[in-house]
Amino acid sequence: MNRLLETKVQKLNSEHYTVIDLNDVHIGEGHFTVIAGPCALESEELAVKTAKAVEHSGAKVFRCSLFKPRTSPYTYQGYGIDGVQLLKTLHAETNLLLETEILSTDHLEALASEADILRIGSRNMDNYELLKAVGKINKPVILKRNMSATFEEFLLAAEYILSVGNEKVILCERGIRTFETYTRNTLDILAVPALKELTHLPVIVDPSHSTGKRSLVAAASKAALAAGADGLMIEVHPEPHRSYSDGQQSLDLLEFEKLMKELSEMANLLGKKSFSTVLN
Ligand code: PEP
Ligand code: MN
Repeated sequence: MNRLLETKVQKLNSEHYTVIDLNDVHIGEGHFTVIAGPCALESEELAVKTAKAVEHSGAKVFRCSLFKPRTSPYTYQGYGIDGVQLLKTLHAETNLLLETEILSTDHLEALASEADILRIGSRNMDNYELLKAVGKINKPVILKRNMSATFEEFLLAAEYILSVGNEKVILCERGIRTFETYTRNTLDILAVPALKELTHLPVIVDPSHSTGKRSLVAAASKAALAAGADGLMIEVHPEPHRSYSDGQQSLDLLEFEKLMKELSEMANLLGKKSFSTVLN
């Protein structure tokens, strides 16, 4: 880890943490923030319905991907740039912050104008031009770990963003590729405490892509909270079996509500400052 010495991502002492404050939603040490929404936006009606439901269950940030990096070019590629209009609607209809994936620097201006948080997916963790481009804007960026990246490689990718001025980076563990095939990836749960030891940046976990199975999402989510994660990004769809992508790992609205109640109890026991749900 010598290459991490004297980097901007480096943790300098045991109290050194970056907590991002976005309109009173805090992301970082001491807080637990849930980002939830479909794998990809499909229609305005579905987006608004899902957003209102996850907000009711206590999520603070809506996952609303307009672009999908898919293994096959013949599968759903996302709503596309016209979906920026949908983000405006979601802002008008809910109090949620909006989080969306950026695949290309060509879309930076349009996405940054409406989204509150940008995401760089695992396949782009090594896209240095994209990292530098989001480094020059004043907006939080979720950086997902590449499925074969070491912690050092992951943190040096984050350093590309911090080094040019943007210190609001959130690291996301989304599972690594191993010999196991039952799960889509292998959730590297120790990435959470290890990264929190090495860096002051917030660390969240994606229990959906790391497991690939709806039945395992709750366990992975609770494990992440217990391991010290600062939040989660969970795929939720009102009718997972009809989802254009990743339905097999998406929770439906009731499953999400139940999980949020359980996480809320755990977060309270762990003394997290902000995990408030708006449930009655
Ligand atoms: C995603 O979050 O939409 C996604 C494709 O995940 P990952 O980049 O981790 O594969
Ligand atoms: Mn997905």
